[in-house]
Parts: sequence; structure tokens; C-alpha cells
Amino acid sequence: MAQNCLLIDLDGTLYHGERMVPGADTLITTLNEQGIPFLFLTNNSSATPQDVSARLNKMGIPATPQQVCTSSMATAAYIAEHKADATVAVFGEHGLRSAITEAGLTIVDSVDAIPDYVVQGIDREFSYQKLAEAGRLILAGATFISTNPDLLLPGAGGLMPGAGTLGSALKAMTGTEPIVIGKPSAILMNFAFTLLNTQASEVTIIGDNMMTDIKAGTQSGCRSLLLLTDEGVTTPQNIEIHQKLAESKPDLIKHNLQEIEQWVLTLH
Ligand SMILES: [Mg+2]
Repeated sequence: MAQNCLLIDLDGTLYHGERMVPGADTLITTLNEQGIPFLFLTNNSSATPQDVSARLNKMGIPATPQQVCTSSMATAAYIAEHKADATVAVFGEHGLRSAITEAGLTIVDSVDAIPDYVVQGIDREFSYQKLAEAGRLILAGATFISTNPDLLLPGAGGLMPGAGTLGSALKAMTGTEPIVIGKPSAILMNFAFTLLNTQASEVTIIGDNMMTDIKAGTQSGCRSLLLLTDEGVTTPQNIEIHQKLAESKPDLIKHNLQEIEQWVLTLH
């Protein structure tokens, strides 16, 4: 079993938009050199592991697709575990569709047949028509799964609605709570533990968001490290409020990636 493993959040932790956070490249290089097992862990369901690693590489951060764990991968694995030959209606982007197909599941686009599952992720072409179709399938008995609960995302022109906001509309239409896969759900965390061939007690999750990253640590039983900066979701100004909202406290707090790198070197 792997020991001293890390799960590392991406947006707000290793980069902001297309800009690498200073020290992200050397932190990951150090992890590789020290042989510390880790995964990049993202709630974003829109991209494939190949897309994610290519994006990191473009910013100068070393990464391979095998080091990426997405909410789409965990969603597909969750469904395959419950029903290996499931039919799935996907309301999401290509990273989600690709993960569902790779898990051997069947995507159904026809609204005539009721699929086993309706899976909803971020969909930047979401529409009234899609809301109607997804809602009708759930009302007709398909199991409702949401890739992640994030309500808001940072965008170039300001805040954008996240997958959780679209899921909230579906929830309102159907009166049905989705099974939520992404952070803070333990479903994504347990999937990541399996990929790392480890268990919660050997893992530290690193991230900037109390409500997703740190709460995921609390809910799955692993250690959590909050990156507390003026630029992340959690800042010195809002940490008290966010701790209350998340009903969680980080086990460790670091103020930049250099401090995290120093801490990492104490693991071995
Ligand atoms: Mg983040």
C-alpha cells in the first residue's frame, strides 16, 4: 500500500486561469524526484485526463494523464460498479462523455427510452430544452447523478455558473436530490484512494477551498492542507466564515507553494 500520498487541487492551487501559481512547477518536480505518490484532483468534468495534463504542461507544470483524477472518471467508475451495462444520458461536455464511454457504459441520446442514469456535469451549451429532457428522464425513473456541486466558477469576465448551479435547476424541476460525485463527496475521494492504491489514513488533500477540498478531507477521513492566499477561494479575510460554512477545519495551513514544498520534504 502506498504511503504519504497527496491529492492536489488544480484551479486556485496550482494555477489561476492560464497562469501558473509561482512554485507549482518546482513543487511537482520535487514530488516526482522524491517518489511521493500523488494525483491532480479536479471536480471539473469537462476535460479528459489528457486535456488536463496538456494544459498543465503548457503552463510549465510536469504532468501525465495517469496522474490526473477527474470527477468524470469517478462518475463513470461509480456507475460501472453499480451496473456494468448501464445506459446513461449525458448532459455535459466531452470529458464526461469520454469517461462514460471508456468505462464501457452506453450513452443514449434518444429521449424515447428511459436510461438507467442521467449524468449532469458542466455544460456550457445547457439550454431550456436540455433541462426539460434531463428532468423528464429523472421524473420517469432514471437515477440522477451530478458530477460536482460547485455553484460558481471564476471566468475571464467574472463569475460563471458551475455544474452545481445547473444541477440545482434539475433538482428544482424534479424534486430529486442527485448523487454527487465530486469534492466534497467521499465518492471521488475513495476513487482517488483506489487509484493511488492506498487508504485515507495515508493521504493529505491540498487545496484552496474549504467547502470542497478541506471538507472532502473531513468527510473521507484523510488529512487536509489549506493553501491560504489572497488569490484562492479561501483568504485570510474569509477563512472564519468558510470554516463555519464547511463545518470543517484544515489540519494544516500553508501560505504559498514554497511552504508546501518544504513540508513535503519532511514526509520522507
Ligand atoms: Mg481550487
